[in-house]
Amino acid sequence: MKRWTMAMGVGAICALAGLYALAQEKPAGQDKPAQPPAKPEAKPEAKPESGKVESKLPLCPVMGETVDFTVKTMTDDGPVYFCCAECIEKFQKDPARYADKVTAQRARLRKRERIQVCCPVSGEAVDRKQVEQVDGQEVFFCCAKCPAQYKENPARFKAKLEGCYTYQVRCPVSGKKIDPAAYTDLPTGQRIYFCCKDCPAKFLKEPDKYAEKLTEQGVNVDVDKLKKP
Ligand SMILES: [Zn+2]
Ligand SMILES: [Zn+2]
Ligand SMILES: [Zn+2]
Repeated sequence: MKRWTMAMGVGAICALAGLYALAQEKPAGQDKPAQPPAKPEAKPEAKPESGKVESKLPLCPVMGETVDFTVKTMTDDGPVYFCCAECIEKFQKDPARYADKVTAQRARLRKRERIQVCCPVSGEAVDRKQVEQVDGQEVFFCCAKCPAQYKENPARFKAKLEGCYTYQVRCPVSGKKIDPAAYTDLPTGQRIYFCCKDCPAKFLKEPDKYAEKLTEQGVNVDVDKLKKP
């Protein structure tokens, strides 16, 4: 009787071992690429460009999502960017509540490339020839009259100047640096910058083709809204 039990026990162990082996074999054979969990870095390495840009995008102080640079509001010390319009409303009800998040957003903004597109005095598009060094900073203006007014009291225009930069610095069509004078205002109310005056038409003709180049830069365009006649 004892022997019989032993044999049963051994048999059971063998059966269990067999099952175990099967269970082990199945996932190993099926998801071989997922097998080495020691290398989670392998994926980001595969596409470093888009990954890098995305991880550096600032975050919405309300939701914590990446911002859309065309969704912003002005404050006394410069613009704040959000992920959507609803977040602007929430922010405006209680700006103090989001102060730390705004500070964090600005820390990320400082690491990004930006291009001054409007005059801090008038708000008009800059003329690249109207440039002055003020307190060690290169500032562009719309005309020859504005620099004098600016230099009288640069602090007065500090927040305005901060709001005069675009972080969409690459033309979605060519990939070249944008020209502040080459832009188009979409029906969505978003201003998109290009490298030259020929590119807006190319973009509007095939927005699907170029929209991703804007998303990478923190500008989300609803392509369907552009297709409507
Ligand atoms: Zn939002
Ligand atoms: Zn001017
Ligand atoms: Zn162009």
